[in-house]
Amino acid sequence: MTVSPQHDVIVIGAGLAGLRAARDLADAGRRVLVLEARDRVGGRGWTSTFPDTDLQIEVGGGWFTDQQHLAREELGRYGIGVNEVAPASSTRWYSDGALRLDAPFPADDTASVAAMDAITRDAEAMAAGADDPRFALSLDDYLTAMDATAAVRDIVHGWWSITGGCDPAVGGVDALLYAIASEGPIGDISYLRYAPESGWSALAEALAATDGIDMQLGQPVSQVFHDEQTVSVRATHAAFTASAVIMAVPINTLSDIRFTPSLDDRLEDAFGGNAGRAFKVWMLTRGVPEHALAFGKGAGLNWLYGDRATDDRGLTIGFGWPADGFDPDDSAHLERALRHFFPDAELLEHTTHDWISDAASLGTWVTAPAGQSHLLTAEAWAPTGRLVFATSDIAAEHSGWFEGALISGRDAARAVLASGNV
Ligand SMILES: Cc1cc2nc3c(=O)[nH]c(=O)nc-3n(C[C@H](O)[C@H](O)[C@H](O)COP(=O)(O)OP(=O)(O)OC[C@H]3O[C@@H](n4cnc5c(N)ncnc54)[C@H](O)[C@@H]3O)c2cc1C
Repeated sequence: MTVSPQHDVIVIGAGLAGLRAARDLADAGRRVLVLEARDRVGGRGWTSTFPDTDLQIEVGGGWFTDQQHLAREELGRYGIGVNEVAPASSTRWYSDGALRLDAPFPADDTASVAAMDAITRDAEAMAAGADDPRFALSLDDYLTAMDATAAVRDIVHGWWSITGGCDPAVGGVDALLYAIASEGPIGDISYLRYAPESGWSALAEALAATDGIDMQLGQPVSQVFHDEQTVSVRATHAAFTASAVIMAVPINTLSDIRFTPSLDDRLEDAFGGNAGRAFKVWMLTRGVPEHALAFGKGAGLNWLYGDRATDDRGLTIGFGWPADGFDPDDSAHLERALRHFFPDAELLEHTTHDWISDAASLGTWVTAPAGQSHLLTAEAWAPTGRLVFATSDIAAEHSGWFEGALISGRDAARAVLASGNV
């Protein structure tokens, strides 16, 4: 073990939250040590290539929106270009047992159309601060409470794949309502508007290269000791001491870290509180039109998008959540899921990453379990003495997005500087 007191601040976790905090502190003249469990930076942002090709893919998060100014600002600062994502060239839906090419519901199904409008109104009401007990229900309980038709349930479940991204009996409907209010109505993917040209990993690497940051990869932290004078952390290969620590790990991984003294019950109650359990699958396909969108009740994948054409083939993205034994790594399962929406399509190759059992994430983007959103706020995770928390999972705004990670990291750096501890 080495004990190194030569750093002012230790940042644990090199996702965008931790890296933004580290960059801001280094820019403010502080000596920063970043300890990262994995052998790469970027966390749930991970740019790679599709197997056996040079086609760039985002294994984790991909897109950002017009409202997300810090993401654009940071990409601009490091000269990383921004691609505009093509809007859907066509949309198809699967609802109430049928594949539909014209509209999500049959023309005479006015009850379903009215229910969709009611959901949009609820999203607006929630955003305006209305206190309705239905907003604390799980998605499925909310749909039951509104007596939703089978078709509405199917269409909403499809959209849930990219908003809640978990078992709809568990995740709070507020995740869906928040997404509708802040980004746009169900079916409108125009808000998934931009993506960094050279990928989110390029931004993470640029932040990590800031002068004054000492970056150590392969250093999973397992213990944190904190008192009024100092903070020490123990990683696999060394121990370190500094004046402040920023915990920039996903909240689901916090239960694997021992804090001495232990944290408040209110914080420990929120450990593991991200219900987000999505699959994101990349498929090399034939027969999926470029930029075609499909969503609804799937056969394992409930949301698909023809991301780009490559000669006579294309890369198609699919989202879903663990259900009915569906294995996002199994060709037969994936082919069935693909043909459910595109009956003539062919699956050639596929790849995915299991973020759910990955020990450094234990989940995907943040979704609170029903009625638990109050546990995942920046206020609930205010600094505890010399410990400051940062992750998109608890960001003051745009939580669950890269934007939220950048906001949370910025706020954590400010809190450390304002504390006078460093
Ligand atoms: C499949 C998927 C799709 C997504 N789609 C989008 C999207 O389109 N747009 C969007 O904006 N967002 C999307 N997101 C969410 C976005 O990726 C995250 O919100 C963001 O990356 C979180 O950043 P973070 O820094 O808070 O956490 P992370 O990126 O998870 O960073 C935390 C870091 O802590 C490290 N760590 C964990 N435990 C330890 C430990 N004990 N010691 C040391 N280090 C540790 C991890 O390895 C990681 O590097 C998606 C996420 C996933 C998984």
